[in-house]
Amino acid sequence: MSVRPVVITGEPVLHRVAARVEHFDDELAALVADMFDTMDAAHGVGLAAPQIGVGLRIFVYEMPNDDGVPARGVVVNPMLALSKVPEGRPDPDTESEGCLSVPGEHFPLRRAETAIVHGQDLAGEPVEFTATGWFARCMQHEFDHLNGKLYVDRLDDKQARKARKAVKAAGWGTPGHSWLPGVDPDPFGHDEPDDEHDEL
Ligand code: ZN
Repeated sequence: MSVRPVVITGEPVLHRVAARVEHFDDELAALVADMFDTMDAAHGVGLAAPQIGVGLRIFVYEMPNDDGVPARGVVVNPMLALSKVPEGRPDPDTESEGCLSVPGEHFPLRRAETAIVHGQDLAGEPVEFTATGWFARCMQHEFDHLNGKLYVDRLDDKQARKARKAVKAAGWGTPGHSWLPGVDPDPFGHDEPDDEHDEL
């Protein structure tokens, strides 16, 4: 098991649809172990396979929830059924997301309050659960990764402009950028006592 580099926006694998997992074998188990290690080292609450450069439909998460779902898990080949996304401006205090593939940034966006998740576990057995609130937000963020979409692709015009600026200023948006959790400085400052965000 090992921590792998997290690729940054601009890397093509983040911007294309990932492939279904067909083989539930040791290789899959080893990949998912690395995904958990990488998520933990990054202090993230979710990680999708494309974020470590692997174009497969898998995500892991670590998020205590009110939905009776284990706080730590993996979903392979997920499908989501969502409640309606609320209209109106997102609240920066309660609806801001961060992404390990857009290091150090946060922007607010609306998400559906409820997500019904269908998928498979590491053995290929069906999993199904309902996620609400922030857990539902996490599911939507990770699922988007498998369809080549980042949360910054879903921002309203004002926030999207800010995000584009930030990406450009950092020199991202082109292939070849990554960071190594546990080695490179933590881009979200998770060691700081005032950290109150969760990155996915
Ligand atoms: Zn993300």
